[in-house]
Formats: sequence, C-alpha cells, structure tokens
Amino acid sequence: MTRANVREPVNVVKAHRQTEGAGFIVRRPIPTMGLPLVDPFLLIDEMGPSVYGPGQAIGAPDHPHRGFETVTYMLDGEFEHEDSAGHHGIIRAGDVQWMTAGAGIVHSEMPSSTIRYEGGRVHGFQIWVNLPARLKMTRPRYQGVPSDRIPTASTDDGLVHVRVIAGEALGVSAVIDTHTPIVFQDWTVHAGGDVTTGVPADHQALVYVFEGQVRVGNGDAVLREGEMAILGQGDQVRLRGVEGDERPGRMLLLAGVPLAEPVARYGPFVMNTRDELIQAFRDYESGKMGEITRTAEWR
Ligand code: MN
Repeated sequence: MTRANVREPVNVVKAHRQTEGAGFIVRRPIPTMGLPLVDPFLLIDEMGPSVYGPGQAIGAPDHPHRGFETVTYMLDGEFEHEDSAGHHGIIRAGDVQWMTAGAGIVHSEMPSSTIRYEGGRVHGFQIWVNLPARLKMTRPRYQGVPSDRIPTASTDDGLVHVRVIAGEALGVSAVIDTHTPIVFQDWTVHAGGDVTTGVPADHQALVYVFEGQVRVGNGDAVLREGEMAILGQGDQVRLRGVEGDERPGRMLLLAGVPLAEPVARYGPFVMNTRDELIQAFRDYESGKMGEITRTAEWR
C-alpha cells in the first residue's frame, strides 16, 4: 500500500441539530443547502440522542416511499416497524433494518410501546440509499438483522473496533445483501488507534463523526462530532484516534458506487423524472402502494 492511495477529506460539512416531522431532533449532514446528496446517499439523519419522558416519544406514522432504500441503525432505544408488505418488527439498540422501498411501500416507524409509555433514550440513524433507474420499481424487500448477527472486528491492539453493516473491513464481511455495492460501517477509534481499510476506488466515500473526534487521511486535520467529510480519490481510508481523548471517536464510514443519474425527489419519493414523481403520488393516493393491515389487538 502506498500513501498515495489513501483518501483525503476534500469537503467538510457541519450538521446542525434541527426539528423534523412531528418534532424529533435530528442532525442532518445531507441534504443541506448546496449539498443535495452524496451519490448514492440521499439523506443521513442522526436521530437524537434524545431522552424522552413517559408519553413524550414521537415517530413517523403511516407514510409511503418509492424509488430508494431506507436503512435504520439504532444505537439506543427501540423503534417499531410495520409495513404494507406485512413486515412487523422492533429495531433495538445495535440492530439494523435495511428496507428496499422499490416500487412502493407504506410503513410506520414509531418508538416501541416501551419507549412510548415509559420513556427512555433514543439515538440512531436513518440513511436513504438511492436505487438506479433499473431497480426503482423492484419488489419491496425487508432485511432485519439483530445486533448479535452484525459481524464485528478489532485491530490487534484493540484500539479500533468496527461493526460491518455493509461491505468488508478487517477481514469480515457483512451479512446484509445490498442491491448496489455499499459500504456501511460503524467505527470506534480510541486514542492511539490507527487503521487503514480498503474501500473500492470506484466508490464515493464519506465519514460522519457522531461522537468524539478522529483524524481522517494522512493529514493532521481533525473531524469533530457532527461533521461529515467527503473523501477524495483512493482505495484506502485511514482513521486515527486523537491523542489525549479519553472517549473514543465514533463514526460511520459510508461508500457506494455513484449512480450518476438524474434525481427527482419530493418528500417520500425519489425518482429520475418529474413525471415519475407525479405518478408516484397518484399511485400512493389510489392505494397502489398498499396499506398496513393491523390486528385489533395491536391497535
Ligand atoms: Mn419512512
């Protein structure tokens, strides 16, 4: 490996906390003014961390999606998922749900009944991964992976740890199947830690720090909590802990092959053309994306 292959940060974006939907707090590095997406990633929402009292927690009741994938990764708390394809599950701390909306799905994403009634801490991510035109109308798919099935690895010195949600790192491969090549990894880097991991040269890559700080690349620049760096060309990503830090840096490493297609997006739909967006609204309103069937017991 030569140093020339290590990707360096070329653009750093600071995410600000904002209120979304019915009032939950998110930190959102994309989309932001001037940066609508980092192809193929359309949206990165860090939800919370928020501590709710009894009866305070809120979520996103029944709503549709078409044309892309939603990935939910919980760090703390629980979300309950239901959709029009009949899937129902609770996403707990460390779990991942990789949902392909494809041709259309209606789902609800609500704090679990435990969180709603008793309150608690909620922290996690929702990331939108775009689909290429040829897959936008694919059959909806749901992959729920519990925390203990997510492959993990550490460096020999124990100073760097990774949870491999998608792609490969430190010799382990993800169990989730993605429609397009995607890297989605949760890295923890302690002071003194120094790791270089492969990310294919044809991927666009970014690092988003959600706790502490980290050095990215061979330079001295530090990426801090709430900052996202888009990385330049190369086939390696280097992460280093910051000396003197008592708590480790935690970050997502995301990468994917850019689709390089037109993006037409409005609310819950992401297509290639405005006509396809209009068709998506028509199909949703006429019920073609289905509805969530609930039993009397649950409601
Ligand atoms: Mn949704």
